[in-house]
Amino acid sequence: MSAVFWEKEVETLCREKLEALQLQRLRATIDQALKTPFYKKRLSQAGVLSGNDIASFGDVRKIPYTTKDDLRQGFPYGFLAVNTDDVIRLHTSSGTTGTPTAVYHTRDDIARWANLCARSLAATGASQRDVFQNMMTYGLFTGGLGLHYGAELLGMMVIPSGSGNTPRQLQLMRHFRTTAVHATPSYLLHLFGEIEKEGLTLSDLCLTKAYVGAEPHSEGIRRKIESLFGIDVYNSYGLSEMNGPGVAFECIAKECMHVWEDSYYAEIVDPGTLEALGPGREGELVLTALTRQATPILRYRTRDLTVIEEGQCACGRTHRRIARIKGRSDDMIIVNGVNIFPSQIEAVLMRVPEVGTNYQIYLDKQASLDRLTVKTEVAPEAFTGEFVALEKLRNHLKHLLKSEILVNPVVELHEPGALPVSTGKAVRVVDQRNEAYCG
Ligand code: AMP
Ligand code: ZN
Repeated sequence: MSAVFWEKEVETLCREKLEALQLQRLRATIDQALKTPFYKKRLSQAGVLSGNDIASFGDVRKIPYTTKDDLRQGFPYGFLAVNTDDVIRLHTSSGTTGTPTAVYHTRDDIARWANLCARSLAATGASQRDVFQNMMTYGLFTGGLGLHYGAELLGMMVIPSGSGNTPRQLQLMRHFRTTAVHATPSYLLHLFGEIEKEGLTLSDLCLTKAYVGAEPHSEGIRRKIESLFGIDVYNSYGLSEMNGPGVAFECIAKECMHVWEDSYYAEIVDPGTLEALGPGREGELVLTALTRQATPILRYRTRDLTVIEEGQCACGRTHRRIARIKGRSDDMIIVNGVNIFPSQIEAVLMRVPEVGTNYQIYLDKQASLDRLTVKTEVAPEAFTGEFVALEKLRNHLKHLLKSEILVNPVVELHEPGALPVSTGKAVRVVDQRNEAYCG
């Protein structure tokens, strides 16, 4: 296997040097974090007053974890370590208008992030000869702009098509002979269906590879996309709290994702006890960004379940790898790449007096895409059985839900008492999308 490197020296640094670099950067990050109102308080409570308090990796446990709730509570500027004049961009986590978390970037932050994305793409053999069509959403979501900047840095010809509008995506792919695409796995399956519907064949396209991420998918789904399109598919993992894409990426070996350890310190912990788990043991991924200026984040609980793989990768990179994400340790659901908490849906429903107390969130697939259905009972006093009144309520709920969760739901209204009531803990989410995590 002949691997292509973007920065061979860093990517193949021996473990000893890589860990020394991590430790040095971790100390600098703590000093940077101490400039933020949040960490100034949190770290001093924990007795960490300077980066020098971390003498070895054993001391990392002195650093408290950071959670999404912390980020929400610190909104908008509690995690900002630089003057706002030095910030050139901000991003937020996908989904949700109600409870934002913001991550700010300086010019250097953006440059380093783009570099990690270029490194990731190069690890799959991509080069300036590629035409890259970015079918991820552009905007506050990091999937669009993140890989866009990396692909430009690598020298690919970038088509910033954004998500949706499948006929136009296909037109662009044919006109400009797109060789690489970036999309959610469910969108690629949908795209394939449309290719068939339009009577096109694979020989009308020049596609050789796809980058998929933003949502969980199985090895089976990867293989399916590979065989349908006759291409190589690479898994891309990231989260907005840690920049976005470019945190961990598959290389040409396609066996797990290299975490770029010069820029991230990765730990696996038991989500219940928060005890550190060694290599080969599955748990929650905890990440520390090691080079960020504007928003340094320490020991962030990603809630993503995975395992750090032991052993060397055939490509020659020394950065350790994580396995495909197995699931989440919280109840967040991801619908076509957008993160949603069931509590957001509940909050919307409970604001509407005509809605009863029992509801269910139902997930399935339609034409390869995720479909979210909110089934809810109508309150007895509001249930007249009149079609016009019910239609009005249904549209009202659809509108309220869309503006909260940013996904268009199907809304089903049921008579009072019609939905199943569980005797134990209510089962609010029924996920029939099958394959998401298995295999
Ligand atoms: P966001 O902050 O909006 O970019 O969402 C990040 C979350 O999306 C992660 O914490 C994961 O739960 C999920 N995610 C991103 N990439 C992947 C991937 N390749 N496989 C599985 N889940 C992913
Ligand atoms: Zn590799």
